Amino acid sequence: MTAFDVAVIGLGAMGSAALFNLAKRGRRVIGFEQFEPGHEKGSSHGESRAIRLSYFEHPSYVPLARRAYEAWRELERASGETILTVTGILEAGHPGSHVVEGSLAASRLHGLPHEVLTGPEINHRFPAFRLPPDWIGLFQPQGGFLRPELAIRQFVRLSEHHGAEIRTRTHVLGIEPTASGIRIRSEADTIEAGSVILATGPWIGELASELKPHLRLTRQVLGWFSPRNPAFFTPDRFPVFILESEDDACYGFPDFAGSGVKAASHREGTVLATANANAQDGGEADEVQLRRMFRRFLPDADGPLCKMRTCLYTRTPDEDFIVDCSTHDPRIVLASPCSGHGFKFASVLGEVLTDLATGRTPVDDISRFRVDRLRASQTTSIPDRQIGEAS
Ligand SMILES: Cc1cc2nc3c(=O)[nH]c(=O)nc-3n(C[C@H](O)[C@H](O)[C@H](O)COP(=O)(O)OP(=O)(O)OC[C@H]3O[C@@H](n4cnc5c(N)ncnc54)[C@H](O)[C@@H]3O)c2cc1C
Repeated sequence: MTAFDVAVIGLGAMGSAALFNLAKRGRRVIGFEQFEPGHEKGSSHGESRAIRLSYFEHPSYVPLARRAYEAWRELERASGETILTVTGILEAGHPGSHVVEGSLAASRLHGLPHEVLTGPEINHRFPAFRLPPDWIGLFQPQGGFLRPELAIRQFVRLSEHHGAEIRTRTHVLGIEPTASGIRIRSEADTIEAGSVILATGPWIGELASELKPHLRLTRQVLGWFSPRNPAFFTPDRFPVFILESEDDACYGFPDFAGSGVKAASHREGTVLATANANAQDGGEADEVQLRRMFRRFLPDADGPLCKMRTCLYTRTPDEDFIVDCSTHDPRIVLASPCSGHGFKFASVLGEVLTDLATGRTPVDDISRFRVDRLRASQTTSIPDRQIGEAS
């Protein structure tokens, strides 16, 4: 007899959302988190995450994004907090930009509201920008930003309200399938659950060794700068943006909380052997890199540095997510939706993971996120005894 229907390991973006949905549906559920929800050591910190409907990565993400918006609004109603702010999002780049062309194709295919703008039109409408005259841009009015730490803490708080048991500051050491369920061994004790969701973000390779050879952890730097002309960077005058130049793709956010204009590069940062190898803050070279983008395209943002933080991407080879049952045991659900663009989907993926962990077929199409595609791209033999043993 198992004590819990489902155990969720990792209460970051995906785990906290799954825990909330499971508890809301009346499941006996337990959540484990090695730190405190909303901490700064994983992939979900830094005050803001971009959300957009049109998706340059692939148009098939659009239906999932639609449901994600609805589910974020549901979280706001349940929590009484503002999680999602719509500012519009500007995607701009050099002629032929993959970001702009991809987003335009997805917008047209799904009939999404959008405006195509030239570089000078963008500079006129949003005076903070100095984009080259031959650039093109696409403005999506529904784009905006989410508050990641707040969302995670609210998911956890509401889960507890719906009866979830929560163990924070508890590191899960290993999982082991048994005839009746999955045994979960933590620093505190050993429990059993009918199924388990592994939502351990950049640590996922430690408990899901079948994923480890396919994932790359990279250190990404976020910087906040005090703008020279603050009036240009308020959320009502300055949208969330993604800029694709010939040698970089960077993105940023308006100064919505008085902590500065935030910017980062999507380009691959230093590859790390483990999530614990991450040094927490950025250095001089990181600052130079971020300022380079400001100097070229947003000169008034190039003011004093407020702070820098590092954050981890967990990249798959094709940059699509992994959301599927383990090929070793279907009672183990794998959730690795990162590659630098997963947060916006946490609200809907919480529902999807709940379905997978309780034997239901998700309403949303997640065929793009199957785990067996990784094997097809790289044949790697993994001994079964490695399943679920933390290194
Ligand atoms: C710099 C940066 C910018 C990004 N920008 C965007 C954006 O603008 N828009 C967007 O949609 N996405 C963005 N992303 C991606 C998005 O943030 C991630 O997809 C998302 O945060 C991943 O959530 P997660 O739950 O998988 O991981 P996490 O939130 O890191 O959660 C994993 C949790 O598991 C816990 N854990 C790990 N191992 C154990 C264990 N053994 N026992 C107990 N607990 C454990 C960890 O402590 C952690 O809390 C960005 C990511 C980064 C790093």
